[in-house]
Amino acid sequence: MQFPGRRRKLNTNSVQGELYEHLLQFYGQPPIENISLTEFETLAVERLKLLKTVENVGISHVKVSEEYKKKLDSEFKNLNFPNKEVDDRIVQSEYDKRRKDHISHFILRLAYCQTEDLRRWFIQQEVDIFRYRFNDLKPKHKLEFLHRNDLQYGTIGAEEKQTLMDKLVNSSYAGSGTKVEDQDIYKVPFQDALDLVRTRKVYLKAGYVYIPHQDIVTIVLNDFRTRLSKAMALTARSLPIVHSDERLQPLLSHLSHAYVGQDYSIQKNVGKISLDQIDSLSGKSFPLCMRQLHQSLREHHHLRHGGRMQYGLFLKGIGLSLEQALQFWRSEFIRGKVDADKFDKQYAYSIRHMFGKEGRRADYTPYSCMKVILSNMPSQGDYHGCPFRHSDPELLKQKLQFYKVSPSGISQILELVKGMHYQLACQKYFELTHNVEDANFSLNHPNQYFIESQRLLGGGGKDLKREVETPQKTKPAAAAPELTAKDVPEIMEDLDSFFQDA
Ligand code: SF4
Repeated sequence: MQFPGRRRKLNTNSVQGELYEHLLQFYGQPPIENISLTEFETLAVERLKLLKTVENVGISHVKVSEEYKKKLDSEFKNLNFPNKEVDDRIVQSEYDKRRKDHISHFILRLAYCQTEDLRRWFIQQEVDIFRYRFNDLKPKHKLEFLHRNDLQYGTIGAEEKQTLMDKLVNSSYAGSGTKVEDQDIYKVPFQDALDLVRTRKVYLKAGYVYIPHQDIVTIVLNDFRTRLSKAMALTARSLPIVHSDERLQPLLSHLSHAYVGQDYSIQKNVGKISLDQIDSLSGKSFPLCMRQLHQSLREHHHLRHGGRMQYGLFLKGIGLSLEQALQFWRSEFIRGKVDADKFDKQYAYSIRHMFGKEGRRADYTPYSCMKVILSNMPSQGDYHGCPFRHSDPELLKQKLQFYKVSPSGISQILELVKGMHYQLACQKYFELTHNVEDANFSLNHPNQYFIESQRLLGGGGKDLKREVETPQKTKPAAAAPELTAKDVPEIMEDLDSFFQDA
């Protein structure tokens, strides 16, 4: 138990202690201490929040700009993650932050090594964190870091610098805008800087390249990315062992699909829309994924399971009551190949289930963008998924043309899709279809899209009977030391609340 205000003695003689003496690390040394499942979950969720924040800040700011740095400074502070190197011996609070940084990184490695998409996303955010921290180090701390990690790059002396000055100024990428004489110049074996050599950004002589201080980050980042990629591949190999632990498996698999943000579940919104409004709302305020599902339902009078879940939960989130949902799905299905009797026997149960009225009575929450994008890939005949992620670009273009998005808007969206910024592409679609320059929110959830749209179009929900509310209370995550396989659905549900309330 910890007591407020009391300080534990820093054990910096241990391996971990030594590690935490430095802000920056390549995460080569896994944590070796025992932690409780509750702490495991908490740390994982906190890092996930950090990664999502870094992603959002990176989307809205130029990554090496001063605004980007300032924004991250304040976000790291808010989320209580370390971002500054200290000259003196570290205090307990800093030690705790570094410990959290270290352990949480390794937990998310486990969760995010499972597929290529997840790995790519995780590595990108971690590289951005690394770059931000490295760039902020003082030169002496940078050198310290390089030497500690066997990157034995020295800086050249004043005399050598003077001799090479012309060459450095003429050949260095940074030379054109920055005074070379004011910078440290690193002398690095050329094979460690192939990117810079290939792009002719550095002076090369006798097997060494001369790299201005501000460009050394390129090398270190490459190294970090390579190490992390390899480590993720290795971690993926040990997944079967991790998955055989029935306490960890559901936690990890949920973490990889977890959405950190508000809860868009139904409780506060029931009865706020009428069934007659759905057609018009789908054109005005539904994100493309839901618009596509609605259109397909109206056309084919049927949706497969994946589509029914994604769309059904979304509708539940925007305010359909169970009775309305039953009426909505029933009236549509019986217009197709399903008669009323078959609907009542086969489909009504799953709708009641979705509302927590059947089975184990879990109240399912609407899917986040991350969940839609990363899980349950649609196949032929499916209409669920995220059109920005799962549609062929040509098909997406046709859809956007059909929805009257301007040619220049379509190009911007396709460009974002090409860069795999699916949520950003969706946000651009929002801006274009709502005629606003800046959406002013970071899209994470289809129901968030709906709420923001309603807010904009109706000045707080003109189309709805009352304004949709979202804030949630935090519910503690379940510590589950006694978990068994049969408890998995329950803990997943608890985790749903935990993540969405966080
Ligand atoms: S980004 Fe999210 S809201 Fe937009 S289409 Fe994809 S899943 Fe739907």
